[in-house]
Amino acid sequence: MNKITNHMPTAELQALDAAHHMHPFTAGAELAKAGARVITSADGVMLTDSEGKTLLDAMAGLWCVNIGYGRNELAEAAARQMRELPYYNTFFMTTHVPVIALSAKLAELAPEGFNNVFYAGSGSEANDTNIRMVRHYWSAKGQPEKKIIISRKNGYHGSTLGGASLGGMIPMHQQGGLPIPDIHHIDQPNWWAEGGDMSPEDFGLERARQLEAAINHYGEDKIAAFIAEPVQGAGGVIVPPETYWPEIQRICDAHDILLIADEVICGFGRTGNWFGSTTYNIKPHIMTIAKGLSSGYAPIGGSLVCDEVADVINNAGDFNHGYTYSGHPVSAAVALENLRILEEEGIVDTVRDETAPYLKEKWEALTDHPLIGQASISGMMASVAMTPHKESRAAFKTSGALGYYCRTRCFDNGLVMRHVGDRMIISPPLVIKKDEIDTLMDRAVKSLDETYAWAKSEGHMTA
Ligand SMILES: *Cc1c(COP(=O)(O)O)cnc(C)c1O
Repeated sequence: MNKITNHMPTAELQALDAAHHMHPFTAGAELAKAGARVITSADGVMLTDSEGKTLLDAMAGLWCVNIGYGRNELAEAAARQMRELPYYNTFFMTTHVPVIALSAKLAELAPEGFNNVFYAGSGSEANDTNIRMVRHYWSAKGQPEKKIIISRKNGYHGSTLGGASLGGMIPMHQQGGLPIPDIHHIDQPNWWAEGGDMSPEDFGLERARQLEAAINHYGEDKIAAFIAEPVQGAGGVIVPPETYWPEIQRICDAHDILLIADEVICGFGRTGNWFGSTTYNIKPHIMTIAKGLSSGYAPIGGSLVCDEVADVINNAGDFNHGYTYSGHPVSAAVALENLRILEEEGIVDTVRDETAPYLKEKWEALTDHPLIGQASISGMMASVAMTPHKESRAAFKTSGALGYYCRTRCFDNGLVMRHVGDRMIISPPLVIKKDEIDTLMDRAVKSLDETYAWAKSEGHMTA
């Protein structure tokens, strides 16, 4: 196949990029000096850059390329749809075939009682929809004072005003005067960093019970919903203690509030089931979806809405909300083809029964490494915490310096692994094979060894 990557030299591309392209979550001036890595093509789990170097992408792009790169079927689905009907909206009593087919398919794949989808262009937009929808829901039920949404510190729910407000990322709140009113954050179930002397089990209960305390503090008649990721992704792949979700569920059942599971990362096989809510036995009212829904081949997000909430919304007159690209036909066609591949190729089952257990054994063995204090994994998302002193779970004084160094070592060793502070995280394509997991682990260990050698020579290992 002819490639479209007959491109100019890397240095020229980097200069043009620096001159005209403002990058997300990036210090522009710093990037301009270093020069961005130019990714030109990809296949399976491997990326190729403009210098011809290949990298194993252990992040699946940004947690989204679940079926891996280079699936021609999705390209064909997009091209077919663009020729037949590139765009139409669903606002004014109209619809189209791909959005109908995708909605029916999602209702089939989702847990029982989820038969409705409201579409957005991304996960952030879908969470903005959720804010609007849960408040409209309570208003329609005659309780307009139920407006407050409880979420968690170090949770991630997107980068729009609403999404970033729901999220608990302090550096994001510090820019632009967030959060918006009526959103309150409780502490995260991150035992490694915040558990102190408690057992993980007791700590999980304590953190869950902060939800009940918040409900009692503001008053149940003021609370619309609680939102959380089944496993925190961008916060550092924080797998909660086993006691956490059952206690959250008990509290949500005991109080008249809605539960929103943000499945943007956990959905579509990431934790070894179609939804993280299944893995953690969570019974939400709304599930946010995006990322793996289209494996990142086209932008699409949405809210899967349970029947009870959908009935109220559908019978409350116009819901004055929607996006030009809600249910975009090309994105819908691509998502549908992606779901077909995930289902027909048994990819979710393979993750649960074969490849995730294989990765788990190797990943957890990383705690033998002198730098690693904790290894966490849920299906195909995993993290390790680096520490100068395992017993006390101490943090490095130079917060994030080792993580940054290790990430750079990974790049040089042909591996994309991300860092959140001094946690290293992975979320590879779900189609990763066992021999590719071996390669991933070899490169990760080599990078950790190099980071350890550097940390010792720099005097970082003294707690
Ligand atoms: C990525 C992410 C979002 C935001 O999705 P975008 O498509 O980037 O807007 C929301 N929630 C979670 C849990 C995410 O990981």
